[in-house]
Formats: sequence, C-alpha cells, structure tokens
Amino acid sequence: MKSLIVAMLACSTAAFAQDAATAKAELKDAKGAVVGQAMLTDSPNGVLIHVVLTGMPAGPHAFHIHETGTCEAPFTSAGGHFNPGAKQHGMSNPAGMHAGDLPNVQIPADGALTFDVMARDVTLGAGANSLLKAGGTAIVMHAAGDDYKTNPAGAAGARIACGVVTK
Ligand code: ZN
Repeated sequence: MKSLIVAMLACSTAAFAQDAATAKAELKDAKGAVVGQAMLTDSPNGVLIHVVLTGMPAGPHAFHIHETGTCEAPFTSAGGHFNPGAKQHGMSNPAGMHAGDLPNVQIPADGALTFDVMARDVTLGAGANSLLKAGGTAIVMHAAGDDYKTNPAGAAGARIACGVVTK
C-alpha cells in the first residue's frame, strides 16, 4: 500500500510539471549582443521568471514587462509597461501598479546575475493578462533603477536590454 501511494504522488508531480505552461525570452542589448536568458513558468499565483544575465552594467536597474513583443533598439518598439488593468506605474503609487512592474535588479561589479522574480498579475494562459497575447510582450531592463512611483515608467531612463516573450 505504501508503494502505491508513493507511485501516485510521483505520477501527480510529473503531471503537474508537464502541464505547467512555459515561455522564454532572449535578452539582447542595443548592439544586438545576447546578455541574458529568461525562462518563464506559469503557476496559479502568477508567472515565475528565472533570469540569467551576463555582461550587464553594474548597479540598480529597473526590470519590467512591456506591452509589445518587439525589440528593436533603442527598444521604444516594446511600448509602455504591460498594463491590462489601466493602472498607473509603480508599487508605491496609490493608483498603481502595472501588471508588468517588477522589483529592481542589482547587478554586481562583474555584470553577471542569476535571479528569480514572481510576476503576480500575469499569466501564460489565455486572457487580457496573458504574456502571450496577440502582439506579444517583452522583458526590458533599464539604465537606472525604478523609483516605484513616477508615472508612467519609474524614472528609470533608457532601455538597455530587451527580449520578446515566446513559447
Ligand atoms: Zn510600470
């Protein structure tokens, strides 16, 4: 009986892993060099984004999901922040926040960083909050940190890396 229960647990874990929708994004800088990979995994509580960066400038950098899946330098092609809820920018803004707003990333002196971040208000499934909607979405890193309150983009400066979210 004990072995049967173990077998059932193993089976259900495998089924969950197989069912979880995933997506990816390759981040490039404005010169077209690959500077990172993002792996996205859907969950009942949002999308977990696992990011591996190399060759990035040290310091704090805003990290957002933008509303258009097009990355042509200087990356204004990615549009504004992904904002299906028509809110203002920033987690410290009483009228915020955008679904695409995420915490700042602190890049160390060697320019390499691996981190995980949870995007709670988005999905890889269907609906208005889908990162795989028509027209797509993009992951963008900015030159400066996000102040978490200045509409519409947190006073985070230029866009220094961009990656289109794809299946
Ligand atoms: Zn925003």
